[in-house]
Amino acid sequence: MFDLIIRGGTLVTPAGQARATLAIANGVIKAVAPPGEAMSGALDVDASDRLIFPGLVDAHVHIPGYLLSTRLEDFASATTAAALGGVTTLMLMPTDDPRTATGSYFSRKRDIGERYSHVDFAIQALIGPRTEREDIDEMADLGAISFELFLAYGGNPGFIIGHDDFELRRLMEVVREVGRVVGVTPHSASLIAKLTERQKLFEETRKHREVFEKEKARPPVQVFSLTRPTLSEGLGIARACVVAAETGTKIHLRALSSSHSVGIVNRFRDVVALSSEVMSHHLLFVAEEAHRLGPYGVIVPPIRTGEERDSLRRALRDGDIDMVVSDHSPVLREDKEPGWADIWKTPPGMPGLQTLFASMLALVEDGALSLEDVARCCAERPAAGFGLYPKKGALQVGSDADLIVVDPARPTLIDDSTQRSKANYTTLKGRSINSRIESVYLRGRLIAHQDQMVSEPTGRFVRPSP
Ligand SMILES: [Zn+2]
Repeated sequence: MFDLIIRGGTLVTPAGQARATLAIANGVIKAVAPPGEAMSGALDVDASDRLIFPGLVDAHVHIPGYLLSTRLEDFASATTAAALGGVTTLMLMPTDDPRTATGSYFSRKRDIGERYSHVDFAIQALIGPRTEREDIDEMADLGAISFELFLAYGGNPGFIIGHDDFELRRLMEVVREVGRVVGVTPHSASLIAKLTERQKLFEETRKHREVFEKEKARPPVQVFSLTRPTLSEGLGIARACVVAAETGTKIHLRALSSSHSVGIVNRFRDVVALSSEVMSHHLLFVAEEAHRLGPYGVIVPPIRTGEERDSLRRALRDGDIDMVVSDHSPVLREDKEPGWADIWKTPPGMPGLQTLFASMLALVEDGALSLEDVARCCAERPAAGFGLYPKKGALQVGSDADLIVVDPARPTLIDDSTQRSKANYTTLKGRSINSRIESVYLRGRLIAHQDQMVSEPTGRFVRPSP
C-alpha cells in the first residue's frame, strides 16, 4: 500500500515520453510501472490524458524581502508564485539584504525559509574580496549549494571582484577545496563604468545638440543597454574560465545573453568543469520589445537582438547552454515607475518564477524546444549542476515526488491578475499557451491545484550531496 498512486499519465523526461503509473510513499517515487499496473494507494489519481513533468528546479532566484519584509517579496509570496508555476525547488541568490555572506545570516535565511517556504529551497553563498576562509568553511558545512562571485556588478559594494585577479584566484581555490561550485556573474567593471559615464554625458549634452542637429532621442532602455555590451560579458566569462582552468574549480556561468558568450564557453568545455545558464527573458524577448516596456524592460544583462535570441534558443536545444533560470527579480511597480522619468533610477530585473514553465511551453509551441528539452533544461540539468540529482529533477525510483501535472487540452492566458508575487505584474502579460498546469506536488503532497494553493508551507532546505 502506497501513499499515492498517479495513474496512466504521460511522463516527460529528457529521454522521451512514456505512459506510466507512479507509486509514491514517504514523499519519494517508489515505482514507475506500466500504465495498467495494479497497485493501491491511500490516494489514487487518474492522470490519463495528462502530461507529468518533474517539478522545475530554478537555479537563480532573488527574494529581496526574505528577512520578513512587509513591503518586498518574501518567502511566502515568492514560493506561492513558484508553486503555482510548477517550480518545486529553487536556489536563492545571496545578494538580497542582508546578504548571505556569513554562517549566521545563512542560518537565519534557512530558518525563515523552513517556516514560510511552499517549495524546497537551497541557499547560495556570497563571496568577495573581504570573505575569510572560515566563512567559506562554515557556509559549506551548513550546506551552501554554491559560492557566488560577482566580477562587475550585483554582489553589493565591497563584494565585487572588479579586476582583482589575486582575489579571483584565491576564492576559486578555496571553493575547490571545500568541493563546491563557484557561480560567476561575469562582465567587465571598467568597461561598464566608463560606458555608463559616457552614456550619461552623451544624453545630457544631447539636449543642447538637438537644437542644432535635429538629433533623435534613443529609447532610454537602449541607452542603458549600451553600457552592458556583449564584449563586457565575454571578457568576464573568459577571465573566469582561465582562472577556473588554472585552479581546477567547477564553475557555473550566469546569465549568458549572446552567441559570443556561448562560443567562449564552448572553447573552455574541455579544460574547465562548467555549466551555464540563460534567463527565460532572453529566450522570449527582443530589444524592441524591451524598449517598449520602459523601466520594466530593464534587466542585466540587457535583452538583445532577435538574432541573439534565436542563437540562444539554438544553443539551449543543442546543449551548449545547460539550463534555463528565471532570475526572478521581483522589483515592485512602485520602484519601477520612477524609471519612466529617469532610466538610471530603475532597479534592473523582472519577476519570472510563476511564468518560467509557461515560458518554456510557449517556446515549445513556437517550435524552438521540445517537451523533453524542458525536462532537461529546467529540471535535470539544474539539479545535476548543483549536486541535487537524482533526488531532484528526475522522475525515477528514489527521486523526490516533485511533479507537475499538465492538462494539454486547456489553454492558459498569462495575465497580471493571476500573479502572486508581490511584483504583481508579468512582462508576458497577454500571451497564451495551449496547456495548463492542473496540479503541483511537492514530495508527494499536493501543494497547488487549479491555480490555487492547497497546502500550508512545507518547503524544506536542501543541501547538495557530496
Ligand atoms: Zn540575478
